[in-house]
Amino acid sequence: MTTEAASVKFKPYIRQTIAQAPQWAAMAPELREAVQVVSHVLPFRTNAYVMEHLIDWNNIPDDPIFRLTFPHRDMLPAHEYARLRELVLGRADQAALVKLVREIRMRMNPHPAGQMTHNVPRVNDAPLKGLQHKYKETVLFFPSAGQTCHAYCTFCFRWPQFVGMDDMKFDARESNELAGYLKQHPEVTDVLITGGDPLIMNTRSLASYIEPLLVPELAHIQNIRIGTKSVAYWPQRFVTDADADDLLRLFERVVASGKNMAIMGHYNHAVELRQPIAQQAVKRIVGTGATLRMQGPLIRHINEDPKSWAELWQTGVRLGAIPYYMFVERDTGPREYFQLPLVKAHEIFQAAYQMVSGLARTVRGPSMSAFPGKVVIDGVAHIGGEKVFALQFLQARNADWVRKPFYARYDEQATWMDDLRPAFGRDKFFFETEGDGHPSTPRKVIPLTPARHDEDGGASCAVHSNVA
Ligand code: SF4
Repeated sequence: MTTEAASVKFKPYIRQTIAQAPQWAAMAPELREAVQVVSHVLPFRTNAYVMEHLIDWNNIPDDPIFRLTFPHRDMLPAHEYARLRELVLGRADQAALVKLVREIRMRMNPHPAGQMTHNVPRVNDAPLKGLQHKYKETVLFFPSAGQTCHAYCTFCFRWPQFVGMDDMKFDARESNELAGYLKQHPEVTDVLITGGDPLIMNTRSLASYIEPLLVPELAHIQNIRIGTKSVAYWPQRFVTDADADDLLRLFERVVASGKNMAIMGHYNHAVELRQPIAQQAVKRIVGTGATLRMQGPLIRHINEDPKSWAELWQTGVRLGAIPYYMFVERDTGPREYFQLPLVKAHEIFQAAYQMVSGLARTVRGPSMSAFPGKVVIDGVAHIGGEKVFALQFLQARNADWVRKPFYARYDEQATWMDDLRPAFGRDKFFFETEGDGHPSTPRKVIPLTPARHDEDGGASCAVHSNVA
């Protein structure tokens, strides 16, 4: 490990402070302007480690981590950027700026896949705002202190968490609600603690959420997962932070209790795991008996090269991590900027998969966390003279749907589940004719509009909340 990376102190940069970063002056004026303008809509936060060790400043604006963390002009349609720019630079009409920012954010589908309307559990008809329960065996928990990240990804669909859309946040003041809910649900085996990034919390706070899950009454909870990007954006969390060793001891206590401590590590690019400190973080995590799975979305401009994925998975396997998921970029935020056709996504996945040994082929993808469930694209096939996408559910609102193959018409433009139509002249996919038991679930796949603000809370992350 370079001493430099080990000794770097956590220093966040946001819109108001990024000008203090030594790299800022070297950025072209139009790039700086775009950061200042677009960050009014999409939250911006980076840190000194990302700036100094992950971004190649000789390669901006095309450097993948630069595009991953810095807002760009093309993330908004030209007319929206122009209106926003005028209001931001004009500084005259604050009310109009607030209104426009809200309008743009709402257009960006801040709560995809039914999070606000279908995933929030209820007790006595009251929503439990810090929980989501989409799949039978897994509950997601959003500790209130973990609703931010060490840096923000520009593609993130957790972004309402970060921008003060308070009526759209998930949080939980206490872990009591979680433990109480789990005691009433013996079918739940997995708890996914997510955010934001729960590892933004200090170890003492995190322990206050995790330790209540180790009691005998919750013996049915077998796996405690933590979704985190800190493995890439702040690996010091496991190595040199003041309470890094305490964090590892907490993982060991979970393992000693007989449960699986599963770290769901979010990686976007091989460069994140080239850093010696990031590699040491992996070794320290798996050294506790915890498991570390690697997952991340496929994103245009950032990780379209299959070689980068192959390198990431191979390095991870060598260090003891488990490649887990390549996701399709979700239908939220600046998706036009990041999305790739599904056929291209499958080609990239297949090419990367073919480059790695069997040990790395634990990875699944490309997978869409869509409204009815998690759908993987198995490939393109010709059946009965028709070119089709072969698909299956890896996870579903209705457990009977899982691993049932189904087929969609081949469509070169399709980028998401909602673009697909059933193959073989059918009107509906099989799951559109079977309900999932939820009274308000429509019997077809449609993008959901956000619920009324007084109804539920809700936002969830592109990566950390992808459960399987
Ligand atoms: S994708 Fe994950 S790490 Fe990135 S900003 Fe969203 S919640 Fe944070």
